[in-house]
Amino acid sequence: MTAAGAGPRTAAIVPAAGRGERLGPGTPKALRLLGGAPMLVHAVRSLARARLVDLVVVAAPPEEVDQVRTLLADHHDGASLQVVAGGATRQDSVRRALAGLRDSVEVVLVHDAARPLAPVELVDAVAAAVREGADAVVPALPVADTVKRVEGDTVVETLDRSTLRAIQTPQGFARATLEAAHLAAEGEEATDDAALVERLGRKVAIVPGAEEAFKVTRPLDLLLAEAVLTRRRSGGVR
Ligand code: C5P
Repeated sequence: MTAAGAGPRTAAIVPAAGRGERLGPGTPKALRLLGGAPMLVHAVRSLARARLVDLVVVAAPPEEVDQVRTLLADHHDGASLQVVAGGATRQDSVRRALAGLRDSVEVVLVHDAARPLAPVELVDAVAAAVREGADAVVPALPVADTVKRVEGDTVVETLDRSTLRAIQTPQGFARATLEAAHLAAEGEEATDDAALVERLGRKVAIVPGAEEAFKVTRPLDLLLAEAVLTRRRSGGVR
């Protein structure tokens, strides 16, 4: 929480402006319902509830900014809320949210709306690692499948699974590092923010990821997310 009058110190940016076409046609992915509430509501609630997050900044589909502001009005207990218009790509959406941050913000988390069930404890673990001095931090999980590199329809190489990790969000950064990374990357896309920091040659540290922070991409993921939510609710959580 913010000390009185000091301004927010840790902000969580939520890129939520994607159409989510792999999930099938319909409303933007972040606004699809999960357990009766849009995915974005779940994601924002868990960020706002984190002890170390003071401000949540959502990059919404440009035509839905007002709707998203209204939608989230009752769901950001524990943190302030800003809603900005997202851009044409995820990276652009993050850049727009970064551009509007107050000077007091020193630590920035970036969390996909498409990971609605990331536990509050994971959010705090990432923020704490940056507050303790890390430049960039990502949650990492071991890879269950064997991963091969392919060209066309032919396998080229089998990668050593023990050295691979699946990377989730929230990812955490020292604000200056994330800003420098986005500035240097203009025009070059990456699938996550940490990749931009890696390009600067800076160290990206890992913390243990959480299985429930999985990304909702395909229709099957929605079924799984519904099941996780039902289990949480029956256990009295949320
Ligand atoms: O498409 P993908 O699953 O990689 O999107 C990851 C996150 O980036 C989602 O939360 C999506 O809403 C967001 N995004 C965005 N602006 C875009 C495209 C994606 O904020 N133009």
